[in-house]
Amino acid sequence: MHEFSIGQSVVQTVLAELSGRGLPPGALRAARIAVGSMHQIVPDTLVFAYEALVRDTPAAGSRLVIRPVPVTARCKACGWQGALEVPLFLCGACQSGEIELITGMELHLESLEVEEHGDAEH
Ligand SMILES: [Zn+2]
Repeated sequence: MHEFSIGQSVVQTVLAELSGRGLPPGALRAARIAVGSMHQIVPDTLVFAYEALVRDTPAAGSRLVIRPVPVTARCKACGWQGALEVPLFLCGACQSGEIELITGMELHLESLEVEEHGDAEH
């Protein structure tokens, strides 16, 4: 499943971040990711995969928050810029096929939301 393999790489990144920052198990509340529409994921399925994959890891109990990024492009022929309706890759102004994508390919971790304790010890 597409979402499951994306979920696996997201969880790997999250776990690497957690250990890199020295955060204790259970400290993570939410992981926020940006996902471009080019990936055509089903958000609910990805959230479900994430929750299953973090079970029994230091990220257990955390939520996945997905920020969808629309596909936008620039036309090389007329300079138009705007949102594309996948899977129609034509300029929105002159219908040229000579376009380049600006956004929509994103797939990365944006931030981690962690439990803050005023009495954090070392
Ligand atoms: Zn154009």
